[in-house]
Amino acid sequence: MQFIDLKTQQKSIRSNIENRLRQVLDHGQYIMGPEITELENQLSKYVGIKHAIGVSSGTDALMLALMNYDVGQGDAILTTPFTFIATVEMICLLGATPVFVDIDPVTFNIDPSAIKQTIEKCQSNLRGIVAVDLFGLPADYHAINSLAKDHGLFVIEDAAQSFGAVYHGKRACSLAEIACTSFFPAKPLGGYGDGGMCFTNDDAFAEKIRSLMLHGQGKHRYSHTHVGINGRLDSIQAAILLEKFSIFPDECIARQTIANRYTQKLKTHPSITTPHIPDNYQSVWAQYSILLENIDQRQQLQSRLKDKNIPTAIYYPVPIHQQPIFKDVQTPKMPVSEDISNRIVSLPMHPYLSETQQDLIIAAVFEALDDC
Ligand SMILES: *Cc1c(COP(=O)(O)O)cnc(C)c1O
Repeated sequence: MQFIDLKTQQKSIRSNIENRLRQVLDHGQYIMGPEITELENQLSKYVGIKHAIGVSSGTDALMLALMNYDVGQGDAILTTPFTFIATVEMICLLGATPVFVDIDPVTFNIDPSAIKQTIEKCQSNLRGIVAVDLFGLPADYHAINSLAKDHGLFVIEDAAQSFGAVYHGKRACSLAEIACTSFFPAKPLGGYGDGGMCFTNDDAFAEKIRSLMLHGQGKHRYSHTHVGINGRLDSIQAAILLEKFSIFPDECIARQTIANRYTQKLKTHPSITTPHIPDNYQSVWAQYSILLENIDQRQQLQSRLKDKNIPTAIYYPVPIHQQPIFKDVQTPKMPVSEDISNRIVSLPMHPYLSETQQDLIIAAVFEALDDC
């Protein structure tokens, strides 16, 4: 059994992908080919945002968004410690300081009430907030954007896991001034390599991000108005993503059905806390993650499932503030993130998980826990 089954997906669209790739080989515009604009147009329309800018990865999308605000030395950025490293890494790489804010114990996303407390006691030069839509569930942007507005901060949505999710009738990638997503193969909309996208309604931001990802290019090819990077999306990746996107809405429905089925069955077990999706939110289920009672129970569950060839994963076993890169930095305790990181475990989740496979997983989970 696969944790994320990309092979079955490929079977249904293989010949269309091959046709798309042949077109790229025929026109030969490997850099900034017509597929890039076609993908940007389709995705900006889907998300409901004016500008979509294809870039080289989710990580670079985050860096470009931060560079848009000239983030650098002396700046402090509020973010969550319960995320993939890239969120925090780009803040640090630009010379700024991440200021960690603990998560909500139910959604695992940055906790707006903790943001408020941190802003009130923070002595540093706060510039902005990078919120993450963890496991495909949007963070609480009404609260986050309103706090940011009150304190003159920018907000970046790290939507690497949430392309396709919905928050109060708006799609993920449209929930902050700038949003960043990833097309890493395992993400809800994944390519066959690295890729990402920035989204914004702001014309000036879009122009600046487009320049930054093209070596800071100005109006002419050899005029440089910013210090930028080589951050382009490949035409070949865009070609693949166009075919993947054609089946994406149906895949979102399948993900929802599978998640509902997991929850319905798993919630009956007293040791399991199933994901809670607040009213007016739709997750895209990048991960289906449950909470157990303690780390030993999790260890037992993982090893029993492994014996049955059922893969599981832990996102994330060590919160970012406890990573070796911060060993010399005094960071406050993040009790919720630390607790959740000990008890969380993710089960196989993808649109092609059959009911038979799912029943096998659920039975194995129950069996493992009842032997604890
Ligand atoms: C995957 C991921 C990224 C980075 O995306 P890449 O395309 O792999 O660079 C950033 N943030 C989060 C939350 C992610 O899950």
